Amino acid sequence: MIVQNPNSDPFAIDWGASSDAQLACKVVLINPYELGRQSFNLAAPTALLKTAGFDVACLDLSLQKLDPAVLNDAALVVLHLGMHTATRIAIAALPKIRELAPHAELAMVGLYAPVNAALLHELGVKTLIGGEYEPELVALAERVRNGDLPSHNSTSVPLAKVEFITPDRSGLPRLTRYAHLMLPDGGQKTVGFTETTRGCKHLCRHCPVVPVYQGKFRPVQMGVVLADIEQQVVAGAQHISFGDPDFFNGPTHALRILETMRARFPNLSFDATIKIQHLLEHADLLPALRDAGCLFITSAVEAVDDAILEHLDKHHTRADFARALQLCREHGIFLAPTFVPFTPWTTLDGYLDLLREILRLKLVQAVPPVQLAIRLLVPQGSYLLQLPGFAERLQRFDPSLLGYPWQHADERVDALQQQIMATAMQLETAPRDEAFNAIWQLAHAAVGLPAPSLAHADFGETIARLSEPWYCCAEPTDQQLQSF
Ligand code: SF4
Repeated sequence: MIVQNPNSDPFAIDWGASSDAQLACKVVLINPYELGRQSFNLAAPTALLKTAGFDVACLDLSLQKLDPAVLNDAALVVLHLGMHTATRIAIAALPKIRELAPHAELAMVGLYAPVNAALLHELGVKTLIGGEYEPELVALAERVRNGDLPSHNSTSVPLAKVEFITPDRSGLPRLTRYAHLMLPDGGQKTVGFTETTRGCKHLCRHCPVVPVYQGKFRPVQMGVVLADIEQQVVAGAQHISFGDPDFFNGPTHALRILETMRARFPNLSFDATIKIQHLLEHADLLPALRDAGCLFITSAVEAVDDAILEHLDKHHTRADFARALQLCREHGIFLAPTFVPFTPWTTLDGYLDLLREILRLKLVQAVPPVQLAIRLLVPQGSYLLQLPGFAERLQRFDPSLLGYPWQHADERVDALQQQIMATAMQLETAPRDEAFNAIWQLAHAAVGLPAPSLAHADFGETIARLSEPWYCCAEPTDQQLQSF
């Protein structure tokens, strides 16, 4: 192929096959963190880039270090920013990446790339692609291969449906090194991860998906999902964790995939994330989920205070949560709720009310302690900023936090959050009833009440769960920040 480089002499001809061209063909994809999952977001672009003729290497920083041998001849290094934690780690890793890949063009893709555009451009990353990023990523790699390096900053959020091919997982650490499934009877299963859709058709105000997808979702082709599941089963997966923001955005699509998955792999179990509203609207589908091998459903309940749920535009109430839990239990599916207990609207009494409700619903064993410590993050572009009067509660955007800091009007609430986060971290691996009891004591002490004894409390069933707790918005630990 004869290629003209518009950044150089317009009459010069690049004949392609030179050692420089060879150098220009290597793309390194880096995923800083993805909840202990073997990432679809490394495997899917790898397949598309390899098909376009690129030499692709992957680095998963949750398990691997930045390897000089992998990076030193890279022409393009791409970091996937799927969540807040990953973005913080990526920013911390940038200087080292620059040092190890001195000739490489840098780009960032994924949900958190466009929302942090100002900061990331300031850090020298010219190309940021959010949403359905793969075709633009391949186009960028083509430009780099042709010597046509980006000359100015660009941020894009393409949402056109991607024609995926089977994700290429051959260069990733083996599945057994990732998070595994822990069963109530003490057994374990190897877990595979895939996605049937990306984006979301809902507009929950605090959700990081919303500023990028703005109420849209995009399916991954059924054949691609099934082929991805199959290759992970061959690699040892006994359980599939679907990473869709909401598995029931397209219930027909989801059910068709499950039907074929069950027919091909009758012993495979799975879990998925489904919002309370969808669990109620599609309650008739719960038997099909169970019959297809669903062990548990993660649901972003966030709060049990109806006024806070209204602020977050969650489209469910406290009563809806209890009803959805009951429906799941009736159908033999565990519900794993997640929470954002500390918001500017949280009161000390309200926090105690949340703990009491978790106890009343016999959910203590279903809630990792960190879920009782999470503080609302307000990233750039958050729909919370559209809530009348909310922006006035915030401080100036803080690039080091990737968000707008806020302080609670009652400083005792912020103090309690810090105590509970420290306790949750300390007791992360302790029995959940022990951690809950410690948090129970702290919450009562904060309001000056004696904590009722939990000696005879019913903490509920131990549920199947992944060994890595689900929380996308936490600050990275020191260990994560130093691991690469
Ligand atoms: S919180 Fe869940 S349901 Fe709401 S917008 Fe985000 S992904 Fe969609």
